[in-house]
Amino acid sequence: AKAAGRNALRFFNPSMQAKVMARTTLEADLRWALEHDEFVLYYQPQVNAQGQTLGFEALVRWQHPMRGLVPPGEFIATAESCGLIVPLGRWILHTACQQLVAWASQAPQDQWTIAVNVSAQQFRQTDFVAQVQKVLQKTGAHPARLELELTESQLVDDIPSVIDKMGALRDLGVRLSLDDFGTGYSSLAMLKRLPLNQLKIDQAFVRDMLKDPQDAAIIRAIVTMGESLSLDVIAEGVELTAQRDALLSLGCRYYQGYLFGRPTAQPTPCQM
Ligand code: C2E
Ligand code: CA
Ligand code: CA
Ligand code: CA
Repeated sequence: AKAAGRNALRFFNPSMQAKVMARTTLEADLRWALEHDEFVLYYQPQVNAQGQTLGFEALVRWQHPMRGLVPPGEFIATAESCGLIVPLGRWILHTACQQLVAWASQAPQDQWTIAVNVSAQQFRQTDFVAQVQKVLQKTGAHPARLELELTESQLVDDIPSVIDKMGALRDLGVRLSLDDFGTGYSSLAMLKRLPLNQLKIDQAFVRDMLKDPQDAAIIRAIVTMGESLSLDVIAEGVELTAQRDALLSLGCRYYQGYLFGRPTAQPTPCQM
């Protein structure tokens, strides 16, 4: 045991120490950022086959006073592991709902939806449904305009309780979308039990669909699956007209990606 201890110490080399310190600093910075309103939501349009904007996905960024605009890939994982994703996630939900309320008095904005990413930690909170309900009540946002994006990996732990939770969210009137679909392990049998409204095809399949027939085949299978379960199917990461056309020919009628608009601080509908 002593030798193992010594080895463990030897493994804890200076570069690891630097990493641990960087992580501790990042955690402290994230706490500060949340208290001082440094997070911002960007909005990326989601469109139908006619190019009409139906809504937006809210994507968080960190407006850091020194580092500039920090993308979520650089802090979401840390926020998850230190638990800060829970209050941050609540802020994200609240901010998205406030945006919905700001739109509520004019057409066509009053019909737009906002999709919010829900992290695994956040979804796992026993009071998650109550949190969503409270935010809806506080802001007065129309529940049908709020869509929650969940990923497959967060739905596998305890299926019955996950299904209950999703059912309670649907009872509130919010929409549920399964993000990054095709990268996990959901079977058709499991999908059938989940009270979903939408499948979101992972952008990796869209990226390669024009040169890799297998990716196109997977997209076709997802669209067929969605149709047989009466779910909407949206593709993300659509950058090229040729991808949009190929998606349409495979039966996918909803899209999100740079072709239709980048994420921006002011929600900007597609101009095509
Ligand atoms: P995601 O949910 O899969 O979001 C899609 C990502 O693809 C976004 O990156 C978006 O900016 C990017 N994207 C959109 N269109 C295109 C395109 O045409 N081409 C390419 N190459 N990329 C495109 P972003 O904003 O950097 O977010 C990365 C990830 O961080 C998200 O992946 C999501 O997992 C996480 N994330 C972002 N915002 C939130 C949030 O508010 N809460 C939580 N829990 N996670 C978030
Ligand atoms: Ca997403
Ligand atoms: Ca995604
Ligand atoms: Ca993704």
